[in-house]
Amino acid sequence: MKHIFEQMQAEDYEQIIFCQERSFGLKAIIVIHDTTLGPAMGGMRMWPYESDETALNDALRLARGMTYKNAAAGIPYGGGKGVILADPHRTKDEGMLRALGRFIHRLNGLFLTGVDVGTTIADMDIIRTETPYIVTFSEASGGPGDTSSVTALGVLQGIHACLEEVYGTTELAGRTIAIQGVGGVGATLVDYLVQAGARVTVADVDQSKAQALSSRYQAVEVVAPEEIHRLAVDVYSPCALGAGLNDQTIPALNCKIVCGGANNQLAEEHQSDLLAERGILYAPDFIVNAGGIIVGAQSLTPGGYQREQALKQIERISQTVRQVFAIANELHISTHKAANALAEQRLNIIRQPQ
Ligand code: NAD
Repeated sequence: MKHIFEQMQAEDYEQIIFCQERSFGLKAIIVIHDTTLGPAMGGMRMWPYESDETALNDALRLARGMTYKNAAAGIPYGGGKGVILADPHRTKDEGMLRALGRFIHRLNGLFLTGVDVGTTIADMDIIRTETPYIVTFSEASGGPGDTSSVTALGVLQGIHACLEEVYGTTELAGRTIAIQGVGGVGATLVDYLVQAGARVTVADVDQSKAQALSSRYQAVEVVAPEEIHRLAVDVYSPCALGAGLNDQTIPALNCKIVCGGANNQLAEEHQSDLLAERGILYAPDFIVNAGGIIVGAQSLTPGGYQREQALKQIERISQTVRQVFAIANELHISTHKAANALAEQRLNIIRQPQ
């Protein structure tokens, strides 16, 4: 944690808050990257980090990512992220979550948060007993509930935009799609695609999830997790964990389009150039998986969460993806760089000149 201000200045971070409450074993870090567009919004992750430094670096990286994601999604929120340094399967309890809620409350709305890796809707309901600055909470409490189905809807919008760019039509009937990971997002995406007449192949390290889908639908086949990215298909859709697009997997891809819901699909940002060189159209992950954050933002509008309004906003993801492709084509840059440029355009409209 040396040279912390140098690190903050390099990517222009606004604030870092370290939270500690010994009686509940709470150690958490909240990073506010940029509030140009509004209060910082980003999920609350719980992970057994190997060191304080690893946790801080993760929070810094994720908070900056949220600035770009929120800006590109066109919502009036900046970027931030929280991490709790604990094992979600061993140390999470009500006392710890409520202690965290009190820290979030002290920030007085500067930071708005919701579910991320290691936290659940039930956890958010507990944190919400201490603070209203929570965006994803249960439907029973008037919130949006689990956001994986709306995230899948956004990915579907992204696939439409990609098909149009590559084949000149959004028609899904007869198209072939390979999905890596059929948890909350991937399984709902399968439902949408099968209903639209696509032929789908799935893989999951949890075989039972993949098998359940092939038992439900004739149009769904299962392959081993190590085979899924090699299939000759129109669309490859990563919906598992991050870093699935890397120096090993990109040369093996046999698809025209990559469009999926997983976060941080590229192991390294420059690999978006590798995809472009191979003639594969990549729909930037943070553009197509913005469904959850759009719903979170919608839950803060006066009158509270309105599902129909949120769905309308998510349908606009296909427009945003088209905008990204237009920037990439015009500037001859990768779609990932174009997505960053789109976010920066929006930030620059109201950023103070330096
Ligand atoms: P999930 O945990 O429900 O599903 C992930 C699935 O991937 C699991 O079934 C898991 O067994 C499988 N998996 C893990 N590694 C795999 C591998 N190597 N090969 C094949 N399958 C593998 O998570 P989710 O909510 O469906 O989210 C999926 C992805 O989308 C994650 O990267 C998440 O960060 C991202 N995302 C989710 C949301 C949301 O609203 N849920 C929003 C934005 C982004």
